[in-house]
Amino acid sequence: MGVKKTETDILQNSMLEDDPNSNTQLTEGFQSKPRWGPQHAGAKELASQYTFGKRVQEIICLVLSLGLMVFNFIQLCWHFSPSNILAVIICAGLGIVTADFFSGLVHWAADTWGTVELPIFGKAFIRPFREHHIDPTAITRHDFVETNGDNFAATVPFLANMAYRFMTLSPAQIQAEYNWQCFVFLLCIFVSLTNQCHKWSHTYFGLPWYITGLQDLHIILPRKHHRIHHVAPHETYYCITTGWLNYPLEAIRFWPRLEAVIESLTGSKPRSDDLMWAKKSS
Ligand SMILES: [Zn+2]
Ligand SMILES: [Zn+2]
Repeated sequence: MGVKKTETDILQNSMLEDDPNSNTQLTEGFQSKPRWGPQHAGAKELASQYTFGKRVQEIICLVLSLGLMVFNFIQLCWHFSPSNILAVIICAGLGIVTADFFSGLVHWAADTWGTVELPIFGKAFIRPFREHHIDPTAITRHDFVETNGDNFAATVPFLANMAYRFMTLSPAQIQAEYNWQCFVFLLCIFVSLTNQCHKWSHTYFGLPWYITGLQDLHIILPRKHHRIHHVAPHETYYCITTGWLNYPLEAIRFWPRLEAVIESLTGSKPRSDDLMWAKKSS
């Protein structure tokens, strides 16, 4: 499938996030089509499935993860040696790039495979991805817990392991794996920030200047860049932390190739559940 999307493709197959009053001039036929957004039947059904239990799980994971981050950061500062600064910067940079790759991999997997009907997992972890395609600005109405809970949860086992090692290893052993821990720490920080960066990329009004500045410099996911993912059928630009890897992955057609392999092995059609939700009208 051709991947280069023109301005018209983007306008006709996505939601006008930057124009909530629909002032953008579009053709008559397009105007009469049902639009995505909070009024979409599928979006309403998916939003109603965010449960109290899920919220409790998110809060527990957030608190745990933040506590572990503070503890590990203090340990990293304590064991830091200035002569090692270059290696620390390189490992931290690799951690950020790896976080961007994982954001793409998890996003692609959840968008492309599985259904909301899967026991427990479907409602808890696939539902938000389906909701996000048919009501992309819902994320801007989610609070900090709903936006970031799942990402912070994913970091807990790794941060806990790191804390355990800081508590049990000798100073010499800690030095031996210090650079690796810097990599893991930055990876965890950027994994946990991913959906916040993603939320900012959908926020067209009222962002502080330093966030739009980071977006304009493409240090975090820019709005125009992420807009390309939000064009039906949502089959490209999956990386949502910094978005840096979207360019090389696109160049080697990484996602379509991976999908072809999985489809030939399992017989499942990519994005069939996503398409089903997009078409829901009652
Ligand atoms: Zn998506
Ligand atoms: Zn998005």
